[in-house]
Amino acid sequence: MGISTDFSVAIAGAGLSGLCLAQYLMRAGIDVHVYERDQSPFVRQQGYRIILDRYGLEALRESLPRPLYRLALATGDEPGGRLRFTDSRLRDAFTIAFKDEPDATRQVDRATLRSILMTGLDGRVHYGRAAAAVDDGGPAGLRLRFADGGAVAASVVVGADGVGSALRAQLVPDADPESTPMVGVYARSPLWHDGVSVIPEALRTSGVLSIADRPGRAFFFTSMRFGESPRAAFARVAPGSYAPTGDDYVMWGLLVRREEVPAGARGDLLALRDLAVRLSAGFHPLIRLLVATGELDTTVLNPFATGRRPHRWAVPRATMMGDAVHVMPPFGAQGGNTALRDAALLGRRIVDARVSGTPVEDAIAAYQDEMVPYAFRAVGTAAGLMRRLTGGAAAPHWVLTRVLPRLHRVTVPEA
Ligand SMILES: Cc1cc2nc3c(=O)[nH]c(=O)nc-3n(C[C@H](O)[C@H](O)[C@H](O)COP(=O)(O)OP(=O)(O)OC[C@H]3O[C@@H](n4cnc5c(N)ncnc54)[C@H](O)[C@@H]3O)c2cc1C
Repeated sequence: MGISTDFSVAIAGAGLSGLCLAQYLMRAGIDVHVYERDQSPFVRQQGYRIILDRYGLEALRESLPRPLYRLALATGDEPGGRLRFTDSRLRDAFTIAFKDEPDATRQVDRATLRSILMTGLDGRVHYGRAAAAVDDGGPAGLRLRFADGGAVAASVVVGADGVGSALRAQLVPDADPESTPMVGVYARSPLWHDGVSVIPEALRTSGVLSIADRPGRAFFFTSMRFGESPRAAFARVAPGSYAPTGDDYVMWGLLVRREEVPAGARGDLLALRDLAVRLSAGFHPLIRLLVATGELDTTVLNPFATGRRPHRWAVPRATMMGDAVHVMPPFGAQGGNTALRDAALLGRRIVDARVSGTPVEDAIAAYQDEMVPYAFRAVGTAAGLMRRLTGGAAAPHWVLTRVLPRLHRVTVPEA
């Protein structure tokens, strides 16, 4: 599709949505560049593994060249699986089963997915460029300014700079997210010890949310088993791209109230690990083992926030996607999927406008009108789930931890 003339798109943030949009637009022949604050692609662990639902998978299928989409599926975990809600001793309260159709739900390694999303964008992703503001003017219409004092001209600017977005206050002034009472301490642990999986067969394809005896505390874990090894699959499909090692792992998160995290623990990996050890003491031995074997350099503290619905888009031809505009607590696995859905939708709207010769302002407005309702439905669902599963209301907590587990057999006996 050769539709590019003097039209260009600048994206702030090389996360899931920014890279996905770049793939979409590049395939359509549009001049697109991505500006990322980090100094290089993999300086930070970004969230370990991610469950892709039909929206996320559909967005990737639409945006990526077919071999790269297949690479995401090939290196991912097997389709389907379950999400189990249990008490602190891993006795089931209830379970949600996912369809095991290849394109229905997939767990993929996040670093592998980012590497796939970067493939083919050579020279279009610029690191060490922290976006700071958008100005009207410049030969193309807008200027994206950076914290280092530099700037680039672009016809359209997209803020995909994540939960701490530097552009949000300017582009959607009424949409500053609200903090929630909960935070997560996340890390990952090796799945295999001396050739034996630490996760018992009964939980092989399950994500588990274990709810503590006291309200306001829970533990999540899930194992990530690579399908085809990323190194072998990348060598075949995308030689030259960075391929993660592909060692299977368990991703886990201890979800606790914000006030339980001592001041100064953020960024102090040892303090975070000590906290996780201390606050997981009342859980099943499997959970305590996961915490004890957590890899220190993968430990992060993630405060949960809830996006606020924007009512005014302040800069024409500038818009936002993903967590930057609709962050949600990680309950229900919708944040990344919604971000990818935004990217494919915005890409489609921009490309359609370029092909039909209609104003790109209209395309952006149509994207915003469609995105806000589905994204804020997801925000509401995630916030509601968080409240029900970790809130202080006595009755739901009692049902989840005392009543329902008595109705089920023991899934993981304690040794
Ligand atoms: C532990 C955990 C597990 C999760 N699991 C799931 C899951 O299973 N399923 C799911 O759908 N979602 C999941 N999520 C949510 C998901 O990770 C996010 O919703 C998703 O990454 C949002 O994508 P994004 O493109 O908006 O932002 P991000 O992927 O966060 O990318 C933002 C990028 O912008 C860069 N940046 C920041 N500031 C600037 C700046 N000023 N200028 C330029 N660049 C900047 C950042 O460095 C980053 O690279 C999970 C989140 C966490 C924390």
